[in-house]
Amino acid sequence: MKKIAFVFPVYNEEGNLEILHKEVKLACEKAQVTYEMIFVNNGSCDNSLEIIKKFKHSDSHVGYVNLSRNFGHQGALCAGLTKVRADAVITMDADLEHPPSLIPEMIQLWQEGYDVVYTTKENHHLPFFKYKLTQFYYWLLSKLSGFTFHFGQSDFRLIDNKVLQALLLMPEYHKFLRAQITWLGFRQKGLSYHIGQRITGLSKFSFKNLFSFGLDGIFGFSHYPLRLISLTGFILAGFSLLYMLKEILIPFFLKITNIDPNIELPPGWLTLAGAVFFMGSFQLIALGIIGEYIARIFDQTKNRPNFVIKDMDLSQ
Ligand code: UDP
Ligand code: MG
Repeated sequence: MKKIAFVFPVYNEEGNLEILHKEVKLACEKAQVTYEMIFVNNGSCDNSLEIIKKFKHSDSHVGYVNLSRNFGHQGALCAGLTKVRADAVITMDADLEHPPSLIPEMIQLWQEGYDVVYTTKENHHLPFFKYKLTQFYYWLLSKLSGFTFHFGQSDFRLIDNKVLQALLLMPEYHKFLRAQITWLGFRQKGLSYHIGQRITGLSKFSFKNLFSFGLDGIFGFSHYPLRLISLTGFILAGFSLLYMLKEILIPFFLKITNIDPNIELPPGWLTLAGAVFFMGSFQLIALGIIGEYIARIFDQTKNRPNFVIKDMDLSQ
């Protein structure tokens, strides 16, 4: 019988774990597969780890990886993925927003031959502005990278073991799993779901977290921002030349050749100040964009791991 592994990143989810454990178990029984559950405790400061250890005592399918601190959502997923011993793995959040009821269908599609079954949210709990911004982000990321990223895509997905092995060989420090898996290719199929309700706790992703995660996607998967700088530079240089021709060179020419001796030459300081401010701010933006890439090269060359394991106890 085929074996499915589950990886759950857990950061202060004490109120959701019991139901998650029970529902995933039921879904696996329904799908008639053997399974292992890997709970990755990501530096929780509530009782999450104690609850997971309790599951481990009474259920041989359960194992856990306890990280030395919080390594972020992607860090916890990576830690769990390195410990999988199964034919396929499903990653899902521990807060019940990823419905376990979808598991049998995901497994079914995998058994039909799909290597990746990804999911997209049909509804959302986002305020209007955040919703529009996220929608625009996925559109932009698709345009810049040349790959198709679906709006509402989450890290609730099934991947076959061969995709997992290829994924684990990707050495990037700034992980953006949804884009890395899209980049890998293989036979992929999407399913949509209605986002479930968190029983307790709040989302841990602040706007700042989302912003930096979003930048990882863009700067990790596209060189276009760098090209955009050169392109903007060329366009601005063209406009500046035209402007200088019209406002300065032509009047000078007309004056010194006496074609139009009364022509007014433009007051210098105003145009100069405008041009200096404009070019100054453009150069700062350009430096910032180059800085984003350099920061990523810096992080990569340090070669630090994405997570550190304090202790673990996997299922039998
Ligand atoms: N999570 C984590 N580390 C973090 C933030 C979140 O391990 O720093 C876990 C969290 O416990 C949950 C999943 O990642 O299982 C998704 O987090 P959350 O619900 O806060 O994100 P959202 O659904 O709002 O994107
Ligand atoms: Mg959530």
